[in-house]
Amino acid sequence: PRKPFRGAPAAGKPENMSDCLFCKIRDGLIPAKVVYRDDMCVAFEDINPQAPTHVLFIPHKHIPTVNDITAEDRELVGHLFTAAAKVAQERGHADPNDGYRVVMNTHAHAGQTVFHIHLHLLAGRPLGWPPG
Ligand code: C5P
Repeated sequence: PRKPFRGAPAAGKPENMSDCLFCKIRDGLIPAKVVYRDDMCVAFEDINPQAPTHVLFIPHKHIPTVNDITAEDRELVGHLFTAAAKVAQERGHADPNDGYRVVMNTHAHAGQTVFHIHLHLLAGRPLGWPPG
């Protein structure tokens, strides 16, 4: 059995959103290569890309983890997927001969390092399964 993880700040629920890196990117306080923005989400190039296309889609609303998504966020979360599909299509990844992956990591054991939900869009190389 896995040891309980004790490293996440306040169980991954930062009380102070002004300390949130992605809230700062949303507000333009930290630079990012923004590729898409609308009234619900912002998308920007991952600073440490794991594939030729690696874009992160964040809601404007600060939601720490997938566990914190509520019924009132349904439209917002669905919107992240449609925005990701739009960028994937613009870059040719929606073609049946290509492909892409969208994923959200939840908690450190799954690789989450920033506690403001973000949908990773990965594409442009063969993507193995299962992921590491
Ligand atoms: O799923 P996870 O929480 O690990 O994803 C966070 C992502 O945010 C990482 O892929 C990391 O490279 C990216 N990042 C970024 N810009 C920053 C800090 C982190 O794109 N300033």
